[in-house]
Amino acid sequence: AKSAGGDSHVFFNPLLTEAAEQRRHMERDLRSAIRNHEFVLFYQPVIDLVTQRLCGAEALIRWRHPTRGLVMPDSFIPLAEKTGLVVEMGLMMLDVACQQLVSWQNQGLDYSLSLNVSGRQIPDGLPPAKLQEMARRYSISPSKLALEITEGVMLHDIEKSLGWLNAVHELGFKVYLDDFGTGYSSLSYLKLFPVDTLKVDKSFVRDMQDGSNEHTLVGAIIAMGRSLGLDIVAEGVELQSHLTALQRMGCHYAQGYYFSRPVPAEEFDAVATRVTAL
Ligand code: C2E
Ligand code: CA
Ligand code: CA
Ligand code: CA
Repeated sequence: AKSAGGDSHVFFNPLLTEAAEQRRHMERDLRSAIRNHEFVLFYQPVIDLVTQRLCGAEALIRWRHPTRGLVMPDSFIPLAEKTGLVVEMGLMMLDVACQQLVSWQNQGLDYSLSLNVSGRQIPDGLPPAKLQEMARRYSISPSKLALEITEGVMLHDIEKSLGWLNAVHELGFKVYLDDFGTGYSSLSYLKLFPVDTLKVDKSFVRDMQDGSNEHTLVGAIIAMGRSLGLDIVAEGVELQSHLTALQRMGCHYAQGYYFSRPVPAEEFDAVATRVTAL
């Protein structure tokens, strides 16, 4: 390659080298975490606003790091995506999610569970046939498992992504469009993709007050979603006033700190009892 000119020494940036070193270290850490099964799922309750009952959960990954404690996804998912490790992690989490559904089923609980899927997993990292095989192996109904995607997922290869979505949907799995309202061309995607549910992004819900722009936007998203025959989940519900407004606007489901933070599986039953009593 051609040199960038006489002063190529400017590329010796000790800060950059350090960052690269840190990244390599983190990547090594991620690989060993996969081998050692350090990733777990936490579960955040989702409430049916019509029946006022708990109807399921969103699964959110956590890293139980041997020295750093509980590590949140925002600090490792981006690197896992960049390195492709998110594919292997995703398959492991699918397994955990299926086991959780089985456990609820065995307790006579008819809960749904949604799992976040990154663009890197689609279409080849999470083959529809694999999903079907898992559902069969665990005898769970595909309709109880939802895959949360964002519009970004579709930007790589529209044809292939659409093929994946259609296949997954035809197998009976649910498709949720996550962070709705934050991307671009949201509306045209809705026409194109087999989506069951819209998740209203928490940034809108958080700033909802009577008469605010966010209030108007959330109302419009709910009305539009409903008229397209979609279910609506509002995320980031932190206040009683959010809940009241959402109910008035005809939102079907809600999740957020108002009900509960994401909790480990062993705490979910206790939270479920408390949430239902709210
Ligand atoms: P997300 O899918 O939009 O998930 C919602 C995030 O909002 C979660 O953060 C959740 O803990 C948080 N949250 C829930 N209720 C409230 C609330 O009332 N107020 C506020 N301010 N926040 C609330 P978390 O668990 O840190 O996850 C961050 C992101 O990491 C997720 O955003 C998702 O994009 C990604 N992620 C999580 N688990 C997975 C996974 O298994 N696979 C992949 N590929 N990505 C994941
Ligand atoms: Ca999500
Ligand atoms: Ca979201
Ligand atoms: Ca997100």
